[in-house]
Amino acid sequence: MAREDLTPDSGPVRTCVGCRQRAAARELVRVTVGSVDGLAALLPDPARRLPGRGAHLHPTRRCYDLAVRRKAFTRALRLAGGASTALVAAHIDSLTDSPSTPGTAGVDVSPDQDWSNSS
Ligand SMILES: [Zn+2]
Repeated sequence: MAREDLTPDSGPVRTCVGCRQRAAARELVRVTVGSVDGLAALLPDPARRLPGRGAHLHPTRRCYDLAVRRKAFTRALRLAGGASTALVAAHIDSLTDSPSTPGTAGVDVSPDQDWSNSS
């Protein structure tokens, strides 16, 4: 009846469905399956509260792309058919916040204007 694979220091460990590396669960985003407008859709579950089977993924475009290409979500979540991944992609984009995100917003920023993004 192990609820988690607990280790004293690093907590539960999960495998990223994209790059297949093991990582602390808190470094991964949980993805579960639900429905949006009656269609199967993958839902990001950062609070890890949604019921049901979940897959874990590094919140990066690279791991997301790998997972999509390998149909890893389909396998990990036992999906019968396809499911929309748009919500997961949007969630990852919102987390990564990279200045050179291609094609997400209609902003045209000149390359020499990154002063506005100083943190
Ligand atoms: Zn990964």
